[in-house]
Parts: sequence; C-alpha cells; structure tokens
Amino acid sequence: FLAGRSALVTGGTSGIGLAIARALGGAGAALAINGLGSREQIEAALAAVREAGAPSARHFGADLTSATAIEAMCGELAATAAPDIVVNCAGVQHTAALADMPAATWDTIIAVNLSAAFHTMRLAMPAMAANGYGRVINIASVHGLVASVQKAPYVASKHGLIGMTKVAALEYAQAGSRDSGGVTANCICPGWVETPLIEPQIAARAAAVGGDRDAGVRELLREKQPSGRMCLPDEIAAVVLWLCRREAHNLTGAAIPVDGAWTAQ
Ligand code: NAD
Repeated sequence: FLAGRSALVTGGTSGIGLAIARALGGAGAALAINGLGSREQIEAALAAVREAGAPSARHFGADLTSATAIEAMCGELAATAAPDIVVNCAGVQHTAALADMPAATWDTIIAVNLSAAFHTMRLAMPAMAANGYGRVINIASVHGLVASVQKAPYVASKHGLIGMTKVAALEYAQAGSRDSGGVTANCICPGWVETPLIEPQIAARAAAVGGDRDAGVRELLREKQPSGRMCLPDEIAAVVLWLCRREAHNLTGAAIPVDGAWTAQ
C-alpha cells in the first residue's frame, strides 16, 4: 500500500530502524536509510531492505550530530524523491548518574535523539503538506513518558521529542484530507526491545546478579516491564506500518507506548 511512496529512516542500519526500513520496503516504499556502520553492515542493511521488496534502497552516511550534514542529506533527497514518510529512529544512550554524566555526552545524546529530528522535520514536512500526505514517526521511548535513574540526557531528549512531535501535529493538522491521508506526526514509545543499544545494560545487570545474559534480561524486565517479554524490532515496525495507512489520518500528536504495561503502573 506504499507503492509510489518514499521513506527516510534514520538509524536504518541497525536494530529497530533496520526492521522499520524492511517493513516499509516490504509495503512498496522506496527507501533511504541513514545510519553509521561498517561498509559490510551498510551493504547488508541495503540488501535486506531490497530483499524485503523495496523498489530502491540508498544509504546516506550523514552524521546526525551535524545540522549541515542533515541539510545536505535532506537537500539531496528533495532533489530526487522528497520523503513522504520520515522515521526518526537513530538514537544513542549512555547511563551514568546526572552528576557524573560527561557534558559532551549530554550534547551528543541531545543532538542525535532530539535535534536531528527537528532538522529532518523542518526540512521534510513542508513538502508533505504540499502533497497532502505525510508521516513523521519518531521513535521515542517509555523514557519520553517517565524517567529512570542514570539516564538524564536520554530521558530529556525523549521527553523533548514527544513535545516537538505534538507541535508538528498541531501545525500540520489541517494539511491534506481524509482522501489524501493527511500529514501526521506521532511518537512510538517502546519499552525494552532486543537490539544492540541495550546490550551494555543487559551485561551490567547480568554482572550485578552474577548470572548470564538471560539472567540480566530477566532482571531488567522484572524491574519495569510487567509483560516480562522483550519486544522484537519487527513488532515496532508493525506499528509504524499501521501509522502510514490512510485510515490513520486522525491519529496524530500521539505518543504510543509499546511497553508491556510499563507506563500503565
Ligand atoms: P541501535 O543501536 O541498534 O541503532 C541505533 C542507530 O542509530 C544505528 O543505525 C546507528 O548507526 C544510528 N546512529 C547513532 N548515532 C548516529 C549518528 N551520530 N549519526 C547517524 N546515525 C547514528 O539501537 P535501537 O535499539 O535500534 O534504537 C533505535 C531507537 O529506538 C533509538 O532512538 C532508541 O532510543 C529507541 N529505543 C530503543 C529501545 C530498546 O530497548 N532498544 C527502547 C526504547 C526506545
């Protein structure tokens, strides 16, 4: 149902972003993926997206800490196929107490998790409005809704992302129509998802309980995620796909938890 559409997925070289890119490609969208990684990792990601069914797949290596690099990427996209769908999924994490958090780490996390989405949105949304269809889907986190210790910049960035997404939803609420699908902006707020991002936290928890990786995972889930089950990246991608449907034209400005009832407590 996305044939003829094009999508930009940041963080598309790994984890949740790669699963989203594959799902969008499988639905027929032409894909641009942004993300860091080795040449092999990038080639494997592009191959996976093409194999999923994307009519085309390109990689952009823009470092999202650089506004200039984001402008260059979005400029190049606008000149060829302006994205109908922008998924801001790139994210970084570092855990430390607020007083011990290096200032440079604060700057990097805010830049990648929050400012980069500001730039892609300000550059891509006007064309979406002109076309009458557009989707901005920001991968926030439960940490956009509630806090945990040792995550000051991450929690601040994700709360900010949800706030900014609401502003965009309001500003574009009247763009397009029911028939064209409208222009919407939403956040998805996952709890724990099995990806490389959380491996350091699993390892730390496993060490703390003197156990193996499985023990570390069980401990993390026991503390906050009542379902006791991790999400898989494909399960987040399924929500993204649904948001891209025309019927979702009125689902905008939302922060959708996919967290096993973490934030229901
Ligand atoms: P991941 O580490 O597998 O992927 C992160 C992606 O961001 C990679 O593609 C990486 O190249 C990209 N990236 C990082 N820094 C970049 C930079 N400076 N410039 C360009 N790209 C950069 O992580 P993931 O778990 O798939 O996370 C994806 C998103 O989901 C993040 O925003 C994360 O905060 C969010 N999230 C993850 C979980 C989880 O449990 N894994 C839970 C909630 C939210």
